Amino acid sequence: MKKIGLLGGMSWESTLEYYRIINQTVKEKMGGLHSAECIVYSVDFAEIEKLQHESLWDEALALLTQAARSIETAGADFLLICTNTMHKLAPDIQQQLSIPLLHIADPTAQKVRSAGLRKVALLGTRFTMEEDFYRGRLQRPHGLQVLIPSESDRQTVHRVIYDELCLGRIEAASAEHYARIIERLIGAGAEGVILGCTEIGLLVKPEDYRIPLFDTTRIHAEAAVDFALEE
Ligand code: GLU
Repeated sequence: MKKIGLLGGMSWESTLEYYRIINQTVKEKMGGLHSAECIVYSVDFAEIEKLQHESLWDEALALLTQAARSIETAGADFLLICTNTMHKLAPDIQQQLSIPLLHIADPTAQKVRSAGLRKVALLGTRFTMEEDFYRGRLQRPHGLQVLIPSESDRQTVHRVIYDELCLGRIEAASAEHYARIIERLIGAGAEGVILGCTEIGLLVKPEDYRIPLFDTTRIHAEAAVDFALEE
């Protein structure tokens, strides 16, 4: 079994989910007392959030690269960045490492494609929804058509992530906001929705919807186990 490196803490609420899903999946696949070999480096999210919102991406890169290198030095065979948003820096972080980085958008796009869908909506932080680093990765190598919510809906999705979900607050009113936003995206032609923020799965439950929802936390964590157990 390969050792899984987890660059987490963004936020720790979703890193907990990664840890749980990875270990449960290893147990399901291998049985008995088997559990995942992993190395977790959990950052202080207050520092990261400040750098994001002040557009100090070089400083964020320096911080995350140092953390990723520590994970590599500790013996990880590959790395997961446990947030969609900070994949903005994934190519630069990868350049500084000799172990591979498993990009969250790749297994997500593969899941969408294997469900037979092409036109999907993307929910996440404003960085993830609006910039090219994530949408471009879904569109160009994987051939997906990506819809995003309207400006005011994007504001709501973003606010709920930082003011509630990353603080561990799960509010019924916000679940209703998200449900209405998802309905509008279905009306605009979305065949599925990518939950492109690792905390959204804490609020939105795929079983409540009539179209497929793709939870990036679960997909990324399960892809990590597949890769760890590959010969
Ligand atoms: N975990 C979130 C994501 O998947 C948001 C927190 C962050 O900005 O990293 O994008």
